[in-house]
Amino acid sequence: MSARIYLKVAREKSLRRKHPWIFSQAINKIKGNPLLGDTVDVFDNKGNWLAKGAYSPESQIRIRVWSFDIDEEIDSNFFRNKLLSAQKRRDWFIEKGGLTGYRLIAGESDGLPGITIDKYDDFIVCQLLSAGADFHRYTLVECLKALYPGCHIYERSDVDVRKKEGLEPVTGWLTEPQESTECIIEEHGIKIHVDVAQGHKTGFYLDQRESRLAAGKYAKDKSVLNCFSYTGTFALHCAAGGAKEVINVDVSESALDLAKKNVELNNLSDKDISFVKADVFKLLRQYREEKRTFDMIILDPPKFVESKAQLTGACRGYKDINMLAMQLLKPNGILLTFSCSGLMESSLFQKVVADAALDAKRNAYFVDRLHQAADHPVSSNYPEGYYLKGLVCQVE
Ligand code: SAH
Repeated sequence: MSARIYLKVAREKSLRRKHPWIFSQAINKIKGNPLLGDTVDVFDNKGNWLAKGAYSPESQIRIRVWSFDIDEEIDSNFFRNKLLSAQKRRDWFIEKGGLTGYRLIAGESDGLPGITIDKYDDFIVCQLLSAGADFHRYTLVECLKALYPGCHIYERSDVDVRKKEGLEPVTGWLTEPQESTECIIEEHGIKIHVDVAQGHKTGFYLDQRESRLAAGKYAKDKSVLNCFSYTGTFALHCAAGGAKEVINVDVSESALDLAKKNVELNNLSDKDISFVKADVFKLLRQYREEKRTFDMIILDPPKFVESKAQLTGACRGYKDINMLAMQLLKPNGILLTFSCSGLMESSLFQKVVADAALDAKRNAYFVDRLHQAADHPVSSNYPEGYYLKGLVCQVE
C-alpha cells in the first residue's frame, strides 16, 4: 500500500485548484515509509483523499502531483495518455509552422511534473528533473519508443536542480547509441543544426521560435546586433528577412561555430553576417566608446534570477544591458528585449526597461509583446509555467 501523507489544516487550498506542488511545510504527518520517487496518497487534515504524487524526501517541493483522480494508476497507460494528449495539443501549430523541432512535454504545464521532452527531427531528448520523473524513467522511455518508433532517445539530465532532489546528473543514449549527436530541425522555413549532447539545455532554445519569426519581420534593411546569439537563429531570420548586416555576439565559441554552420545550411553565406566571441556587457560598453550605432538590437540573455533573493541584482543586470543597448540605437531604432526569468513578472520587466530608457535619456515605446512559443504552454493550474516575455521597443 502506498504511504499516506496528511496535510496541515487549510494547506489543501492549492491542491483544490489543481496546482501540482506540495511543499514540506504543508505536511502534518506521514503514515508509512515512502522512498525517493515513490507514489504516495495525499489527504487533507480531515482524511479526505486529494491527490497522488511522487515523494521527494530531500526537496522543498516534497510531493509533485501526478493525478487528482483516485482511480488513475501511475503506470505505462498514464504516461502514454499524457504523451498522446500533449502531442495532440501541439499538432495544429507543428503543421502550420512546418516544425520538425518542438517541446513535446513541458513538465508541470503538460501534467508531467519534472519531465521535459524535446523532439528534434528523429531525436528525442529527455530531461528528468525530479525524483518522480527519475523513478518512472523506464516506463516513460518504453512509451516514447512505442509512440515514436525509430526515434533515437538521448538523456540530458545534467542540471543542478536534480541535486535538490537527491539525484546525480545523468546523460547519454537511452536507445541504441548513434554515431552523431547532431541533427537538423526546421522552424518557419529556417534550418537549424542542433547538437543534443553538446548544446545548451536539451540542445536548442525552442521557446523563442515566434520571437525569432517576429525579429525577421522587423529586420528589413537594418543593421542588427544579435546579443546572446547562441547558434545564431535570430540572425538567420533577420538575414532572411532582408537585414543589411547582422552581428552575432556570444561567449560560447561552440555556439558560434554552430551559428556559422547554420548560415551555410540556409544558403545565407552571401549575406553580411558576422560573429563576435565576447561578453555582451563589455562589448556594449566598447561599442558605446567607439560610438557605433545600430538600427536594431536583440537582447536575449540567460536567466539572471534563480531565487527571489536574486531579483534586485537581476533587475540591475537587465537595466544595465537595456540602457546600453538603447544608447547604441539610432533614432527610432528597434530593441527586442527578453527576460526568461519566471520570477521577473511582466510588469516589473517593463518597469526595468522603462528605467533603462530614462537612464539612456531616450523615449521608448512598447510596440509589441512576445512570449514563449505554444509548445511551452501555460496551464491554468500552473501559472509559474509563464516565464519568457519580450518587449519590442521603438526607441526615439
Ligand atoms: N538567442 C538564443 C538563445 C540565447 S541563450 C536563441 O535564439 O537560440 C543565452 C546565450 O547567452 C547562451 O548562448 C550563452 O552562451 C550566452 N551568454 C551568457 N552570458 C553571456 C555574456 N555575458 N555575454 C555573451 N553571451 C553570454
